[in-house]
Amino acid sequence: MSTAVDEIVAISRRYGAGYDWVIAGGGNTSVKDGDTMWVKASGTMLSTITAEQFVAMDRSRLNEIWDHTYPAEQDAREAAALADLMAARVDQSGTLRPSVETLMHALFPQRLVVHTHPTILNGVTCARDGEAATARLLNGEALWIPTIDPGYTLAKDMRDRVEAWRSNHDGATPAIVVMQNHGLVVAAETAEEIDAIHGRIRDAVLAEVRRHPESEPEERDSNRQQELAEAVARALADMSAAHGSALERPVTTAFSSPELLRRAASAEALEPVSSAFSPDHIVYSGHRPCWVDAPDHINSPKALQAEVLHAVHDYWHDEGAPPKIVVIRGRCAVAVTPTERKTEVARLLFRNALEIAAYAESFGGSQFMPQDQIEFVRNWEVEKFREKQSTGS
Ligand SMILES: [Zn+2]
Repeated sequence: MSTAVDEIVAISRRYGAGYDWVIAGGGNTSVKDGDTMWVKASGTMLSTITAEQFVAMDRSRLNEIWDHTYPAEQDAREAAALADLMAARVDQSGTLRPSVETLMHALFPQRLVVHTHPTILNGVTCARDGEAATARLLNGEALWIPTIDPGYTLAKDMRDRVEAWRSNHDGATPAIVVMQNHGLVVAAETAEEIDAIHGRIRDAVLAEVRRHPESEPEERDSNRQQELAEAVARALADMSAAHGSALERPVTTAFSSPELLRRAASAEALEPVSSAFSPDHIVYSGHRPCWVDAPDHINSPKALQAEVLHAVHDYWHDEGAPPKIVVIRGRCAVAVTPTERKTEVARLLFRNALEIAAYAESFGGSQFMPQDQIEFVRNWEVEKFREKQSTGS
């Protein structure tokens, strides 16, 4: 295995550690050497990635993909693009699927490409004034990509914008790309440059943040939280039996923090986290939380359970799918999925949404993905595949 791959493994693990740059299966990285580009396999995690989890891609075959024309219909288009991506692998017999963002990596001539979903920068990319703030904070150094359907559509749009940038910048490719409602791409020749650019971006955003999220867990009433987690589990189990879904034995976890309680105060207070900031949020914590508007005077476990059941029922009916996050007014939130791992990841992504909303206050307030793009991600096979791989079910 080449040393280039060892280098990108080390960089990937560094950006995958903790929760600042990516969460769960989010983000991807690549390194180029001659005609080959190694890119992270779909469904793997940066924090634990190994050399074997990078897929070797033939760069000239990847380039040829731009000459193809694809069907306008989205499922057919994405399926055709995925087939071409698989055909561009150096080793056709491998079982790993290259990251869905592979084409995006191939746009950069720079040797190293690191794509992350940084919490603090997403406080800018998911804010109303995101584009102006990005231009101001990074002195026009970053290429801004307006929010768009992920996959082939995104790569194609980015390619057009990178080419336009090149013609305005003496042929130079941008080193920083900031993607609305998504994240960051940094491209450079050395690991030192990669780190310096990430540090610069983090410091620039921090300098304008007026309020930091208060994410420390709060267990003011852990018995009550436990009761509510059980109420959510029971509501979902009851409904699952009727719907024949995989939630007959749901795994729940209740959580709270000053940040959560701020949003759980009322339906109005919940607004800044009431929809999806990015594709990751849709995939792992659901495109919107289920709101249980149980006023303070409702206290008995039985009455609260009835409120929870009612809200979950309405949510499932409206959305055609069970919630992954249930927010109970003034009390706590409950993550619920069929497995322990998925429940933990749902909790992490909702905590992340709370943090993004807090940062976004400094840049004009929350700006969610458009509804049609949310629907696209909810129905996208590639994301279902990714969720399955990275949460091990
Ligand atoms: Zn991404």
